[in-house]
Amino acid sequence: MTELGLSSLVGFVDSYSLRLAELKETLNTLDNRIGDGDHGTNMARGFAAANQQLQKNPPADLGAACSAVAMALLGHVGGASGPLYGTVFLKMGNVLGHEPHADEATLVQAIAAARQGIAERGKATYGDKTMLDVWEKSVTYLQGNPATDRFLGVATVALDEALATRDRIAKKGRAAYLGPRSQGVCDPGSVSSGLFFEEFARACGKELELIPWDTLVL
Ligand code: ADP
Ligand code: MG
Repeated sequence: MTELGLSSLVGFVDSYSLRLAELKETLNTLDNRIGDGDHGTNMARGFAAANQQLQKNPPADLGAACSAVAMALLGHVGGASGPLYGTVFLKMGNVLGHEPHADEATLVQAIAAARQGIAERGKATYGDKTMLDVWEKSVTYLQGNPATDRFLGVATVALDEALATRDRIAKKGRAAYLGPRSQGVCDPGSVSSGLFFEEFARACGKELELIPWDTLVL
């Protein structure tokens, strides 16, 4: 059974922020092609601030850790992704609550609540070529495969979905202004979300090979 403790959640934010810093230019390049070129900068800055906050003020429980991350993202990211990832952590924190551990069923609920939050905040639907595409597919997989090592499997599902956004036409966000010209480029927010699920799997103790995002998405 998969579970997540407080130190693993704090470790997740640390590793996710490191990977985002490494992938900053890749994410900026994707956003430059179909947006304004700042998604890597936004994500790296926001999660570095969130990580610093957790290191400086160690949170008492999972819910407190998630709220601290949400506040840091809302305070440090001006783009669309700040409120969207901020919502992810607010909603996850509501489900995880004042507890030091979460069991597998609770983790699935927390991720599903985050997906719902993104959908409500961004008013996108599946297939609009936004980060919601990855969250939607990942939640469907997690909910539909209770008998498997689903927090390992979800990393591959999220990767495949991030790559699948390449052929889609954007219907929401800045890329939507390009209409059909948004085709041929992976959605940057879907790539940062794919990376989220990869690092989340690792935080849950899953052993997987490092996904070579830059060679796959560029
Ligand atoms: P901005 O678009 O303000 O420059 P970012 O570049 O940081 O912000 O983030 C862009 C990403 O945000 C997109 O790639 C997309 O995945 C996500 N996004 C944008 N608008 C929406 C929306 N309405 N719903 C869901 N996700 C969205
Ligand atoms: Mg942008």
